[in-house]
Amino acid sequence: MEVREIARNVFACLQEDRGLGYSNSGLVDRGGGLVVDTFWDLPHTREMIAHYARVWTEPPRRVVNTHANGDHCWGNQLFPQAEIIGHRLCAAGFAKESPAMLQALRGAVSSDDPAASSLARKLADWDFSGIELRPPDRLIEDRLALDLDGVTVELLYVGPAHTAGDVIVHLPDQRVVFTGDVLFRRCTPVGWDGTYDRWIAALDTIVALGPEQIVPGHGPLCGVDGVKEMKAYLQYVRSESQRFFARGLSAMEAARRIDLGPYAEWTEPERLIFNVHRAYREARGEPFDAPIDALALFRDMYELGLGR
Ligand SMILES: [Zn+2]
Repeated sequence: MEVREIARNVFACLQEDRGLGYSNSGLVDRGGGLVVDTFWDLPHTREMIAHYARVWTEPPRRVVNTHANGDHCWGNQLFPQAEIIGHRLCAAGFAKESPAMLQALRGAVSSDDPAASSLARKLADWDFSGIELRPPDRLIEDRLALDLDGVTVELLYVGPAHTAGDVIVHLPDQRVVFTGDVLFRRCTPVGWDGTYDRWIAALDTIVALGPEQIVPGHGPLCGVDGVKEMKAYLQYVRSESQRFFARGLSAMEAARRIDLGPYAEWTEPERLIFNVHRAYREARGEPFDAPIDALALFRDMYELGLGR
């Protein structure tokens, strides 16, 4: 993990993408301070705080959660002095994931079930013990503008894209955007409760803001080219999935046939199955927030990874 100053008083804490859960965070050290997203567990969030403490003036008074996935907010409790800001649907999403369940999945390394032991190995770097969920207590609707002693920070609701409660954080004068998981860079995106149309529109919104520095939810810093590249991936995977859906193929058969071309070099290409399932749910006319069987998706992902 490393901290980089990407504009005056603005920092990114970047974790190299080593698989599931390696997310990024941000810090605006101004006007009492604001952190964008915490990490998946307490040890990684403590390390983030140790890095930030070398550059911050004081512990920040605000934490923004871009969405409710644990890898962006399960370290919230380590900022006891801060208010937690997020979208109403982000706060509601906290009930959908459980640290205790993930800790149990993590313990299944020697399971007879190869998909379960594979998932346990992906979780091995994380320790979900001691986490007490602390959802946002200051809720936003469409947008919120904060003035941090002359630095404007805009929170813009762009969901339901990657999840129902997606918020991006825009610093117009610094030309910086923290995207949360609306943007994955050089790693294959995974979507939960949202739609392709809204996800693509969210990426268009980021481009329209004209940022110079973009901090993705996962992967390295980039400019708008990285956003356009992910939009092209979503459009391509959706159209290929629709083609195979129309021919009556199962989602798994479709995923096996989709030629990822340049996207095959992104990490965890087998996450494709999540995106095919989303296209299939939409083709069947299901609502964006219909419950998703995450364990079944990870099982499909495991099988697809074997085949590829
Ligand atoms: Zn994430």
